[in-house]
Amino acid sequence: MIIRTKIVATVGPASGETKVLSELARAGCDVFRINFSHGDADSREAYLRNIRQVEQDIGRPLAVMADLCGPKIRVGMMAGGSALLAEGQELVIQREPIEGLTGRICTTLPELVDEVAKGDTILLDDGKIRMEVIETCPPDELRCRVVLGGVLSSGKGVNVPDTHLTLSAMTEKDRRDAEWIADRDFDYVALSFVRSADDVQALRDVLDATGSAAHIVAKIEKPQAVARIEEIIAVADVIMVARGDLGVEMDLPAVPVAQKKIAHLCQKHGKPCIIATQMLETMTDSATPTRAEVSDVANAVLDHADAVMLSGETAVGKYPVGAVRMMNAIAEKVQAYDDETTSVTRVTYAPEPTTAAVAAAVREIIALEGISAVAVYTLTGTTALMLAKNRLPCPILALSHDPSALRRVCLYYGVIARQAAVPTHTRDVLAIAADFARTQNLAKEGDKIILLAGRPIHKPGKTNTLVVHTIGQEQA
Ligand code: PGA
Ligand code: MN
Repeated sequence: MIIRTKIVATVGPASGETKVLSELARAGCDVFRINFSHGDADSREAYLRNIRQVEQDIGRPLAVMADLCGPKIRVGMMAGGSALLAEGQELVIQREPIEGLTGRICTTLPELVDEVAKGDTILLDDGKIRMEVIETCPPDELRCRVVLGGVLSSGKGVNVPDTHLTLSAMTEKDRRDAEWIADRDFDYVALSFVRSADDVQALRDVLDATGSAAHIVAKIEKPQAVARIEEIIAVADVIMVARGDLGVEMDLPAVPVAQKKIAHLCQKHGKPCIIATQMLETMTDSATPTRAEVSDVANAVLDHADAVMLSGETAVGKYPVGAVRMMNAIAEKVQAYDDETTSVTRVTYAPEPTTAAVAAAVREIIALEGISAVAVYTLTGTTALMLAKNRLPCPILALSHDPSALRRVCLYYGVIARQAAVPTHTRDVLAIAADFARTQNLAKEGDKIILLAGRPIHKPGKTNTLVVHTIGQEQA
């Protein structure tokens, strides 16, 4: 059975070698994420090279996503590695670097002391430690009171949910990283802590200036982004529900509903949606996940995520391949149930309404007639995306001559990509599609497939033709 939900796996020390990458790809991983919050340029370069090697070896396109840190704030080095912060005590955060002590620390963002106001909450270590700002002492310090204590170690995350950071989501490091990324064959660039459409645009400007065609993933992990979600979805290419930081920045019990709302809006706007973080967290150390984790992955599929993501599970975990296999197995079990029970929200804000309309028509046809696969010759991947957003109960075969379009569509629900020569006529596409469907064991003689095409065939965004074709009746 073809599993239509896609899997994004984060690459790290546990998975960066070609052997493991190859096993991950064979186990069902379609997109590899390289996180720019960790590692150095050499390790990232090696990961990218290894993924491209595996792509050649297995003969199937793979997408690679670079994930920019954005204004992620971290605690600086702590003297002796950690310190105990007791409830009720005072703690100063200073601008200048210092080896942190119980009463005084610094962060990786010197400007934090300018941005935070009296009364704001500062969370340390994913919210395990909570502080309130009791006084701003410009220009160099903040005085805080510890409301919830704990042991603070070097490099732990700092979140400021109440603070409207004036800083751009693109830091200087992100700009340098984006330029580095633009010079290499990455398919997606994710931006962390997006708060507005302008943040997405800032990354778009850097990519445009360097001539990169990489698509942008907006990571929704701030309450401000949830509040302005429609404007962000409108400008981003892909949305990620980044529950790790989102669960710290907003009321944790509110995250599942936010996930459902965001996934639903992605559906309306015809944008791919990734659900991320802690999906199989237990599998970082254990060979089996918890029941709750299994349900979480299943529910993400039922929320109509295009892809589900693994983070530490594949980057540093003991069972990277087991985690991908588990995810794939869960997606498989949910798929048939989803096909029977789902109702699909129409894509209503498509930039190409005709393409969206034809894709919606495909769904209607499949409801009335047995169709084994839907094929499309796609120049940019847009038609494949519109089909994906219709949650078709059969695979979508995306044919293209453009390797970057083929890699991009790897993220989309149900899409299988294959290189094809530039066709001169719709019947060329039909012949390739029929052959592809046969060799993938998706359709046999007498089965029906649907072909979508544009006329004229080489103009992007002009999908206007739908053919229902019986395998075996190709013209010579
Ligand atoms: P991260 O993003 O893993 O880069 O922090 C995902 C999240 O916060 O959920
Ligand atoms: Mn995050």
